[in-house]
Amino acid sequence: MLLRMSTLLLRTLREDPADAEVPSHRLLLRAGYVRRAAPGGYTWLPLGKLVLDRVTEIVRGEMTAIGDQEVHFPALLPAEPYRTSGRWAEYGDDIFTLADRRGAEHLLAPTHEELAALLVKDLFTSYRDFPVTLFQVQTKFRDEARPRAGLLRGREFLMKDAYSFDLDDAGLQAAYDRHREAYQRIFTRLGLDFTVVRATSGAMGGSASEEFLAATDVGEDTFVGCTACDYAANTEAVVTRPPAAGDPDAQPASAVHDTPETPTIAALVDLANTRRLAGRADWTAADTLKNVVLTVRRPGVAEAEPLVVGLPGDREVDLKRLGAALAPATVAVFDDWAAHPELVRGYIGPQRLAGLGVRYLVDPRVVPGTAWLTGADEPGRHATDVVCGRDFTPDGTIEAAEVRPGDPCPACASGALTMRRGIEVGHIFQLGRRYTDAFAVDVLGPAGKPVRPTMGCYGIGVSRAVAAIAEQHHDDRGLVWPAAVAPCDVHLVAAGKGPQLDAALELGGRLAAAGLRVLVDDRTHVSAGVKFTDAELIGVPRAVVVGRRLADGYVELRDRATGERTELPLAGLVDRLR
Ligand code: ATP
Ligand code: MG
Ligand code: MG
Ligand code: MG
Repeated sequence: MLLRMSTLLLRTLREDPADAEVPSHRLLLRAGYVRRAAPGGYTWLPLGKLVLDRVTEIVRGEMTAIGDQEVHFPALLPAEPYRTSGRWAEYGDDIFTLADRRGAEHLLAPTHEELAALLVKDLFTSYRDFPVTLFQVQTKFRDEARPRAGLLRGREFLMKDAYSFDLDDAGLQAAYDRHREAYQRIFTRLGLDFTVVRATSGAMGGSASEEFLAATDVGEDTFVGCTACDYAANTEAVVTRPPAAGDPDAQPASAVHDTPETPTIAALVDLANTRRLAGRADWTAADTLKNVVLTVRRPGVAEAEPLVVGLPGDREVDLKRLGAALAPATVAVFDDWAAHPELVRGYIGPQRLAGLGVRYLVDPRVVPGTAWLTGADEPGRHATDVVCGRDFTPDGTIEAAEVRPGDPCPACASGALTMRRGIEVGHIFQLGRRYTDAFAVDVLGPAGKPVRPTMGCYGIGVSRAVAAIAEQHHDDRGLVWPAAVAPCDVHLVAAGKGPQLDAALELGGRLAAAGLRVLVDDRTHVSAGVKFTDAELIGVPRAVVVGRRLADGYVELRDRATGERTELPLAGLVDRLR
């Protein structure tokens, strides 16, 4: 491949664009990789498209290598499957919805769990067909409240999304582990400095989930790591230990947020019925929650005496009946809290809170022993959906997660937590049967009885990853692409016209013939200085300057990352750069 800058659709900018807040956004605009076309929508220019395609190919290659099969779902979909799964309402304003000419409601898909489950239902009939994992690389649409920082948070963006189907938990665990490892290979190959952290499941539902966060100060996620062990978690998903006696946090707050908008128990029933909490097979019965303690605190009830209406274990709580009797009330639901007293300071995360329709929870410092929902099944994993919440506010939001660096590590005895910021570039989930239940995906089992597959889903923000790489690989002069994703392998600069230009073009032809991707600056109306500045801005790993020393048969090799310059004989250069 040989690209000539004299004809390339590329205009570099000297000045920082006014509306670009973060380095990746500034540099991708200035170096001519993308142009803003709409709010949260970007056009990929030729150099940008090359990088995007290289990132995509790395992702695709690793997915294919673990046996995932590529498909392509439509982005424009009827509302029905998303209503059936409950996500039409859960995503709410975050999805783009539209009506067709007959008035039928549609959406532009934010992800495709529903379609993957329906496709498997459509085609597979027997346990022998499993396991299977499908993936696609596709444009996704989300009406983000705050599109931001260029490619980092678009309203239209490229995602790789994969969906695994297994017959049992062990199979799901194996698929999850396979994707976790593939993701580590992908982000390593992309040159990202990343951390795998425990996460909440957000609008996907499901239990276990982990995020891949690329560390950078401009990231929107905050995560903690332990100084002594490998514990790492998004602050949305951290549980801290109960406050020590004497800690001001241990003192009860003064008010319970009792307001007319407190949730009805019916809302919690709806919630349970859409199995937003779960991936848990035991949450399938229509009106019934199992293994859940429901604590209802009514206005006027003494603070220390929450009315406990359910007990952990195998008893069933008929929430609909209770709801009729008790609503409105301030409600906290939690899973097996007696076994997990350390959860008493947790809150469910803000996303989940909103999704639950639960606007007000009892502050656990007001009613000791009340807490939340966790998606937790195994000891030690009960923290998945909990954040600590000193800053719980009456409007149901949590202003800030309460973890501080320096806090003791919840996972080991000796460590302390340190806090960093990161960009979520990937997210893997064990969904369980939420979607296969919703669509009654059953296949014939070995004993002739139907079995219902369990799902995992695995996302990578492909376009966001391009920006994350730029965020981690730049300096004050421009981008510094890792070789694996750079738009070109060599940037040839013809420092002068005449013989230097001829030699650069001739060398470019030979390098391209040898299989290298070559960008040659063959412009005749700009100075050598401008070309050097542009080469540094564009950030191809190696530049070759064809300049004054050409007369003696020499060119200069410049390493973009180290700044190192080496004079090399033109003879043998192609082999040397190959
Ligand atoms: P975020 O927390 O940043 O909003 P998310 O948790 O909503 O992301 P997922 O539903 O987990 O995103 O989607 C899978 C991946 O898609 C994310 O890990 C992220 O890399 C990418 N992604 C999500 N939203 C956007 C967006 N608006 N622009 C670009 N990439 C995105
Ligand atoms: Mg989001
Ligand atoms: Mg997220
Ligand atoms: Mg996510």
